[in-house]
Amino acid sequence: MSTQPNPTDSTLAVDLHLHSIHSDGLLSPADVVDRVADAGAAMLALTDHDTVAGLLEARERCAERGVSWVPGMELSCSWRGQSLHVLGFDFDPEYGPLEEWLGNVREQRRVRMREIARRLERKRIAAAEMAARIEASHDVVTRTHLARELVAAKHAKSVQDAFKHLLGRGSPGHVSVEYPAMAAAVECIMGAGGLAVLAHPLRYTLSGGARRQLLQEFREAGGHGMEVVCGSARGQIEPLATLAAHFGLAASAGSDFHDPQIPWNPPGRLAKLPASVRPIWHSFGRAGKPSRQ
Ligand code: AMP
Ligand code: MN
Ligand code: MN
Ligand code: MN
Repeated sequence: MSTQPNPTDSTLAVDLHLHSIHSDGLLSPADVVDRVADAGAAMLALTDHDTVAGLLEARERCAERGVSWVPGMELSCSWRGQSLHVLGFDFDPEYGPLEEWLGNVREQRRVRMREIARRLERKRIAAAEMAARIEASHDVVTRTHLARELVAAKHAKSVQDAFKHLLGRGSPGHVSVEYPAMAAAVECIMGAGGLAVLAHPLRYTLSGGARRQLLQEFREAGGHGMEVVCGSARGQIEPLATLAAHFGLAASAGSDFHDPQIPWNPPGRLAKLPASVRPIWHSFGRAGKPSRQ
């Protein structure tokens, strides 16, 4: 029989950033949990983009597998005209205003998808049909879905290639969205009783100074932590740990797993957090309570 892990253990093997078919992942929540459990992790959070639809299934499978579960999601938001991702943990998925928030963002995603398709049609890519298919089969429509369609139709060699040449910044299908402000996203997570964590802080196109400003504002908005271990990017762990300590943010760790065919960020097999940072999971179970540190 398995035992529940001690959440105050800083060497705990966790994976707090995972995607399922409810956003742009390729596996069901139960299959994601199985992979994380098989890898030996003791705690996980499913963090689909702008939805909580997979949480119940993940929770049930975690209970069966003896893995600790915490509610998670990855919110899309904006800061200085750029879109950012803020993870929410340990919140109440049934908090009333949350569903309206998520529904609005998902609508923004649908509007953007149609605009991306319109631009790609000008490049003689039959993207309207792809976009319609994606919208019909997914509640959260993402560029990853479109990238996969573009690969299937031989407009790109790989998903990465589709982002580089067709969907990413500076390419014909790039459409920026004015998601809700970062501070409002933090407030939404806190309103639901949760902890806000800035996802993959080095993945945004920002100067070092702007990144520090972002972390400062994130902290001031009530942000609790930042990702320090992001997938397999081991060289980034020390610089991120230094930033977390400087801004008084707790540290999180997640693979950002989406696709079992992609070998570089397998679920549940992450580097340990450095001893210099405070693991975010030490705050779980206390979110929203006055004793929270
Ligand atoms: P969206 O949220 O619709 O803007 O799509 C963003 C998602 O696309 C991210 O969550 C990643 O899963 C994926 N993504 C972004 N950039 C890349 C890239 N260069 N290569 C592969 N996937 C990417
Ligand atoms: Mn994604
Ligand atoms: Mn992200
Ligand atoms: Mn993610």
